Amino acid sequence: MSEDFQPRQLSPVETLRHSMAHLMASAVAELYPGTKFGIGPHIQNGFYYDMEIPGAVTPEDLPHIEEAMRAIAKKNHSFTHKTLTHEEALRWAEESDQPLKAELLADIEGPISFYTHGAFTDMCAGPHVRYTKKLKHFKLTQIAGAYWRGDEQRPMLTRIYGVAFETKEELDAHLLMLEEAKKRDHRRLGKDLELFRLTQEYGPGLVLWLPNGAFMRKQIEDEWRKVHLERGYELLFTPHIAPSTLWDRSGHTGHYRDSMFAPMDIDGEEYLLKPMNCPFHIGVYNNRKRSYRELPMRLCELGNVYRYERSGVLHGLMRVRGFTQDDAHIFCTPETFKQELDACLDIAQLMYKTFGFPEFKVELSCRDPENTSKYLGSDEIWTLSEDTLAEVLDERGIEYTRIEGEAAFYGPKIDIKVVDTIGRSWQLTTIQLDFNLPERFDLSYTGADNQPHRPIMIHRALLGSIERFFGILIEHYAGDFPLWMSPVQARVLPLSEKFKDYGAEVVARLTAEGIRARLDDSDEKLGYKIRRAEVDKIPYAAVVGGREAESGTVGVRKRKDGDMGTMSIEDFIAHLKAEIEAR
Ligand SMILES: [Zn+2]
Ligand SMILES: [Zn+2]
Repeated sequence: MSEDFQPRQLSPVETLRHSMAHLMASAVAELYPGTKFGIGPHIQNGFYYDMEIPGAVTPEDLPHIEEAMRAIAKKNHSFTHKTLTHEEALRWAEESDQPLKAELLADIEGPISFYTHGAFTDMCAGPHVRYTKKLKHFKLTQIAGAYWRGDEQRPMLTRIYGVAFETKEELDAHLLMLEEAKKRDHRRLGKDLELFRLTQEYGPGLVLWLPNGAFMRKQIEDEWRKVHLERGYELLFTPHIAPSTLWDRSGHTGHYRDSMFAPMDIDGEEYLLKPMNCPFHIGVYNNRKRSYRELPMRLCELGNVYRYERSGVLHGLMRVRGFTQDDAHIFCTPETFKQELDACLDIAQLMYKTFGFPEFKVELSCRDPENTSKYLGSDEIWTLSEDTLAEVLDERGIEYTRIEGEAAFYGPKIDIKVVDTIGRSWQLTTIQLDFNLPERFDLSYTGADNQPHRPIMIHRALLGSIERFFGILIEHYAGDFPLWMSPVQARVLPLSEKFKDYGAEVVARLTAEGIRARLDDSDEKLGYKIRRAEVDKIPYAAVVGGREAESGTVGVRKRKDGDMGTMSIEDFIAHLKAEIEAR
């Protein structure tokens, strides 16, 4: 059944996935009598159902549940519909001992729709496939705990996830992708490659960057700063906390309080940790009167923000409680607005290229044309901005999906997702127009007409959060980072104790040329050292023995490609530099 009981439009594959949730529930009801059912919606690529299952269900039980599902599906039951009055529905919940359903019923009115296949009946608005024989290409993938109705005060239910597709080919491709994704899990690679640390002791969702990860972060940030400074942005640093009164003015205490950490008292005044950088950048803009000659003003900051997330939704670096936004705010005039949007897209595309994401998807979120009253700002400004955003995308030849009704109340936006090596999309960039904060903070500039005007404000983050972006990079490259990003670019492996001095000399030569090299001075055998360098995903290994020491050369091995032969140290350096240069 769905999260709401309103009749809804589902695509054929969504209908299939939703019907799968019923099928799974019927199998669980059969195998685990006494199970109480919560909700079972379709989701991207599949479905889940939240259930209170008597006894413990483990991942080892999933194949049995699958088997039972196939057996039920084969009987080719039809999904039959009936409607009960609210009272009858309540009686059904009571008689079938379904207290979670009874609770859901308390929140809805009127006649209730039910669907039955075989021996299993569920409260549901539909739609479903007609016959269970259609439910063929699926797999149960995961068991997780989920609080009933997302509330930590309520019981923890068992959520079983599955994936389902219309064809076997699609299912197989998806399962292969999941396998791949598992191998690339940034949480495991983060541990293996010593990139970052997340522990209960230091607080869930709060990241300790280990030296290797911290170095890579520096590479990302250096690149980011360079590109921004080249494009006329000005760098800022702003505090992590501000008095509540500032957040009142910005509207955050009104609209965003639930995502903010608890206040602290400082000299009798209430302060809050910042969940966003915007009010600070506005404070920089408002430092003095601005003239149109100073605009566009592009202020940027790698700003640390803190947002409260429920512990259940935290996930490695992908969802954390403290992170660094690669934030910028652009204040411009109506005359320069289009060109600024174009420049935002330009710099976004440049970043995708730099970090190796050739493919991306764009969404333009617009006003709901049926319900314009809930939006702030005049019709003119909305039409102008939506048209301009669309024009800029068209002129750059970027395909996009326009989504009516998805805009925030204060302005339209562009969202960009990059596609990773195994075809997953990750939301990175947001270019958001804001008709609200310039009013709230009374922003103005003096125009050529000597009159005060309100600037147009653009919020813009390209990578979103540096932490999350790093997680995406780890999974995208499966830890095999491009040479320029790698914390250690070359490891020098002496054949034996005797050649450690020469090895150290090679490391010193490489280091002097700006190459990040380390010596493996362990007493292990060469074969072990080579394997170790592979496991540590070090891009290059340089083997040194007697012959190399005599001739001033190194035996070069490239990770995955293997032996590249003997090279002079100079040639090795030139080879590395060329690859670093080429990105
Ligand atoms: Zn249903
Ligand atoms: Zn902002």
